[in-house]
Amino acid sequence: MDIKNVLKELGIRNSNSGTSTGSKWIKTKGQLIKSYSPVDGKLIATVQATDQKSFDKVVETSRKAFEQWRLVPAPKRGEVVRQIGEALRARKEALGMLVSYEMGKSYQEGLGEVQEMIDICDFAVGLSRQLHGLTMHSERPLHRMYEQYHPLGLVGIISAFNFPVAVWSWNAAIAWVCGDTCVWKPSEKVPLCSIACQNIINEVFKKNGVPEGVSCIINGDYRVGQWLAASEDIPLVSATGSVRMGKAVGTTVMQRLGRPLLELGGNNAIIVSEHANLDIAIRGALFGAVGTAGQRCTTTRRLIVHEKVYANVKEKLRKAYGQLRIGNPLDPKNHVGPLIDKLAVQGYLNALKAVTKQGGKMLVEGGVLKGKGYESGCYVKPAIAEVKNDFPIVQQETFAPILYLIKYRTVDEAIRYQNGVKQGLSSAMMTTNMMEMEKFLSAAGSDCGIANVNIGTSGAEIGGAFGGEKETGGGRESGSDSWKIYMRRQTNTINYGTSLPLAQGIKFDV
Ligand code: NAD
Repeated sequence: MDIKNVLKELGIRNSNSGTSTGSKWIKTKGQLIKSYSPVDGKLIATVQATDQKSFDKVVETSRKAFEQWRLVPAPKRGEVVRQIGEALRARKEALGMLVSYEMGKSYQEGLGEVQEMIDICDFAVGLSRQLHGLTMHSERPLHRMYEQYHPLGLVGIISAFNFPVAVWSWNAAIAWVCGDTCVWKPSEKVPLCSIACQNIINEVFKKNGVPEGVSCIINGDYRVGQWLAASEDIPLVSATGSVRMGKAVGTTVMQRLGRPLLELGGNNAIIVSEHANLDIAIRGALFGAVGTAGQRCTTTRRLIVHEKVYANVKEKLRKAYGQLRIGNPLDPKNHVGPLIDKLAVQGYLNALKAVTKQGGKMLVEGGVLKGKGYESGCYVKPAIAEVKNDFPIVQQETFAPILYLIKYRTVDEAIRYQNGVKQGLSSAMMTTNMMEMEKFLSAAGSDCGIANVNIGTSGAEIGGAFGGEKETGGGRESGSDSWKIYMRRQTNTINYGTSLPLAQGIKFDV
């Protein structure tokens, strides 16, 4: 399938409206966003951003839709989401290819992202029959007490460029079965993916008579995101992106006492113990560090290696990096695609400079690739540097394929390094030693939202709650009981007796 056919199949034109209340695409006076592919530097199409007037219209339509949608029985809402999963299955190749071409990740990872959307739809369908609360015994005679969950309202979704479609679906599929409506502000770096998603689900919504406003799209940069964060009509804002963005959005949402769900940056490490299976450790570290060209929130940024195996790990890594093929991510022979844009390339170059300035030693040199196939200027070489954990540059998340090697002597020291950063998303330990493993997973072990053993830091499944601690924001999305944040909880006590006893035995007789 070539990209022209992909765009046609997904209903993307040369110029597109970026504002939708569902079946309707609204004309606006917003700025023009040009979407260039980092794969070949070509302009794919343009998108007109949302302006204040159309934003207000979207919110109003979504508010009205909520009044109807919340009354549709949850399993019926689940049936709609089941059909969305089917529609995504039918468009998996086309959408996967657009993700790959607009964002720059490999086609396999693009397909993986769409598969994640399908998986979360399946999960949400089952969930639609399990949105249950607890019942508890009342201390008062002839009383019944229970908790129930009701739909919350409008869910604002702000997403990052690196997962242009999956992160939206993690939120939307769960929000919809919970009875909420969604207003999605995608990253301005990948606007076309949002248009494709809306077109795919619209067919399903139309067939099922879903009210206009259940799925809305607002495109634009941080300013459109600010409207969303500030809107008192939107009780929950789920924001995925950098720590900087999370601090701004979190503050705005909390100022109006709304509910923020923050999924922010990581600074993820793998501890490679002296007892590790080095074959697994190297493969896990390699995919973790260079997959998606180091542009995953869960990318392995630090490798904390026991001194006894340090030289061996270094040698194996050097060899493995020597075999990496960098190039067009749509070509299955390549392992590493481009960075999202030239700004990201500049960030990568600045980080490499800082590494040497702060005393690091390059093990595998980086650099920008030039020449045929690299015309977009966004292809860079994955690099490895030997560093100390407390270098300022190591403390930061650089969204690029730079892996930091750190040596350790004792497990306690390794865990101290692992936790010795402000972010707390993903972590892993490679070991065959049970004592070490249990220590790593104990209360005194990893302080991250995700802690793996003998697998890398990236590539989470949708069944578990996803998210991280500390500056990563504390939010949880996707599986497990993450759905609870998309609903409001109510405790109900019913008196079916003929007197009015008060709790705690309080007497109040007149
Ligand atoms: P970014 O913070 O630049 O932008 C993310 C989104 O926030 C975009 O839609 C952007 O327009 C919007 N935005 C930016 N500033 C805003 C503001 N002040 N108010 C409202 N909206 C604002 O991030 P990015 O470069 O697109 O993505 C990379 C970052 O996202 C990395 O830090 C990565 O770790 C993080 N990320 C985290 C997760 C996770 O689940 N924890 C997942 C994916 C990406």
